[in-house]
Amino acid sequence: MIRALIKHKGIIQGLSVAWLFLPGMQQAEAADLLTAEFADDLSEVSVNLCFDGEAPRYLYRNPQADDWSDGIYLAHSRLKISGRHGEIRLPALPDNACIRWQSDFRSALNRKDHQLILQRGSDLVMSADLWFWRGPRDRDLLVRVTLPADRSFSTPWAMLDSTAAYTSYRPDNTPATWESRIAIGRFEVQTIEVPGARIRLAAPGDLSDDQLEKFRLWIKESVLAVTSVFGSFPQPQPQVLVIPVGQRRQAILGAQVIRGGGLAAVLLVDENRPLEELTSDWTATHEFSHMLFPYISSHDRWLSEGLASYYQNVLRARNGRLTETQAWQKLYEGFQRGKKGTHGGSLEQATQQGWRSTMRVYWSGAALMLQADMQLRKTSGGRQSLDTALKSLSHCCMENGKTWRATEMFAQLDELTGTHIFSSLYDQHVHAESFPDMRSTWEYLGVDTGHNRVSLIDTAPLATVRTSIMKG
Ligand SMILES: [Zn+2]
Repeated sequence: MIRALIKHKGIIQGLSVAWLFLPGMQQAEAADLLTAEFADDLSEVSVNLCFDGEAPRYLYRNPQADDWSDGIYLAHSRLKISGRHGEIRLPALPDNACIRWQSDFRSALNRKDHQLILQRGSDLVMSADLWFWRGPRDRDLLVRVTLPADRSFSTPWAMLDSTAAYTSYRPDNTPATWESRIAIGRFEVQTIEVPGARIRLAAPGDLSDDQLEKFRLWIKESVLAVTSVFGSFPQPQPQVLVIPVGQRRQAILGAQVIRGGGLAAVLLVDENRPLEELTSDWTATHEFSHMLFPYISSHDRWLSEGLASYYQNVLRARNGRLTETQAWQKLYEGFQRGKKGTHGGSLEQATQQGWRSTMRVYWSGAALMLQADMQLRKTSGGRQSLDTALKSLSHCCMENGKTWRATEMFAQLDELTGTHIFSSLYDQHVHAESFPDMRSTWEYLGVDTGHNRVSLIDTAPLATVRTSIMKG
């Protein structure tokens, strides 16, 4: 294991000016530059933001950030700022102005809002916008982070280079409202190499080597499962944060994929559970499957959740964690839950209805993914599939920061596959008030669901399609 990103703040004074400014200067020329220096005891961070040319009118930050900062300064003058909900209006500033602020983590921790900041052992995990305040997303930004000795930094931002004094990053230009998490502390950032990606895994808190190794094996297996869709992982260097939560009733308390500044998966885990319990859980496979798509609008959550819910079962069959029959059984049971959770209104409307419609939203989307996969395989004689469609998508359309609507994504997938399969599924099901009828799908595939127990029929017309879905 490599202890990554460890910087010694003290060294900066001993460096010549030439050395200090050589490595990052070229990239810094046409971008705003944010430098962040963390206090030795991690009680606060001091931030400088120098604008390239004209300063922006607005700065974006966490809506609560003001409570833990004593304001924004230009030289020694405190700026008069206005605005709310995290969008603040700056006064007119000279060109190439540098402004600065500090964020006090100790007071923020007293709020006991774990979404904002939490402590694990001597390590901190926080919402980046607690101190990472930036201009509009059309302004390129470079970030230089200086850490106390022996501390590591976990971030979704792409790492550019690292000197003895600081590490440089380039965050993706994503909307200001997109979340991101930063962790700082004595943990190790473990690199997991898989085809197409270097996963940057961090698990803050006082964890044993065995616990860290368990997390590494679990995350690697889940990532490799997604890699099996088309041979490489769809995102080049996602941040993975595994946050220990102590003894709980379930192994995985929660998980999400977030995309602010870069792709990240955050998983809340009972660190005492055995590896087998983590690897037999569907959650991590589900989360990493989300990374097969760019960001889909929350209005069309049925599509992103449908894709992840479909693949969480298919991929576990492909790497032997489920048998073919078990995987079909799980899909069948999911569709049954979706049907039970359908209470009128269209799928589009249900997507806006919150938790009561969760099952309908997730499993209607998964049903559409199965139908698309089956039709692609059938009409192309096995040359195309949902896997190959996603491979094509990975070559054209994964830029982080864009929000896709489902109609647009389905049109794109139709174009990539040279079919109308996706848009006709959209037309049939997204405005329908009932759960997709799966009876003919089961019949074609040879999935007998009598007495709610799946059994497979090898003489069915699309039995080979059925087998190839689960074999990859
Ligand atoms: Zn999900």
